[in-house]
Amino acid sequence: MEMLDQIKTIIEENRESKSIYWRAGVLLKDCAWIISNRPLRYLKGKKKIAWCTNKRRVEIEITTSCNLKCINCNRSCRQAPSEEHMSLKQIKKFIDESICLNWKWESIKILGGEPTLHPQLPAILKIFKRYKKFYPESNIRFLTNGFGDKVNNILKILPPWLIIENSKKKSSMQKFSSYNLAPIDMKRYKNADFTKACWNTEHCGLGLTRYGYYLCGPGASIDRVFGLDTGIKNLSSVNDSTLMQQRGRLCRYCGMYKEKDYKMGRRIKKEKMSLTWIKAYKKYKKEKPKLSLY
Ligand code: SF4
Ligand code: SF4
Repeated sequence: MEMLDQIKTIIEENRESKSIYWRAGVLLKDCAWIISNRPLRYLKGKKKIAWCTNKRRVEIEITTSCNLKCINCNRSCRQAPSEEHMSLKQIKKFIDESICLNWKWESIKILGGEPTLHPQLPAILKIFKRYKKFYPESNIRFLTNGFGDKVNNILKILPPWLIIENSKKKSSMQKFSSYNLAPIDMKRYKNADFTKACWNTEHCGLGLTRYGYYLCGPGASIDRVFGLDTGIKNLSSVNDSTLMQQRGRLCRYCGMYKEKDYKMGRRIKKEKMSLTWIKAYKKYKKEKPKLSLY
């Protein structure tokens, strides 16, 4: 799988090349994608085969703090609020190891919680700019809820090289997935293979928090609440085998596992929780788990 990823990346890097060989490679890749994608996604949605993890995309949760506590938040900002921030040292580590390993991120999403609430945001963006210089093709996105004056005043002064994705939320009543309905609490998933994961890890890519790398952002939040301490501490250790271990341990708790594909999940307006989550949040409120840091 890793070799296939590498070939795809090399072809993508040469997409604009005028050479007839690269053009043929790009054409072949695009045709293969069109032919294989629909049936493949169908089979993945049915959990007949596993979803891949896109290791060229990452969502970085720079803070867990959020000014909007949405129901069914898949970062548990409402259910298990916390004021945790990634440190400057950790952001620098991410950029250093990405450059050192020549890791070409096609997309880096800076998010939270609400990322404008990180107290050291200007310094953080300076560090990210170093990566933009190293690999200008990388899309560095900043995901915000756009809620309230404080957030909007900060958005006005963000640098132009950042792509801002503003969901312009108006309230905490959102239509999200049933993140807190754990499949292990349902008879239907008694014998499920949780290493098959879901569309999120393929569509959105890896997650990174102050506790390390994860197969996806929602998976990282499961670890924060359940305290399994599965975060991968170095980019060089992110591979199919370490990610597979996380799948086996985290996806069993995640309501998104039940979704067939992107935008094909049941979005709900009411907050729903199954027993395993109720117990985990109760435990979290009594005492937060101590996880080792990235
Ligand atoms: S704005 Fe986003 S991070 Fe904040 S509570 Fe809502 S869904 Fe969660
Ligand atoms: S943790 Fe949840 S969102 Fe992430 S891959 Fe597993 S099922 Fe999907």
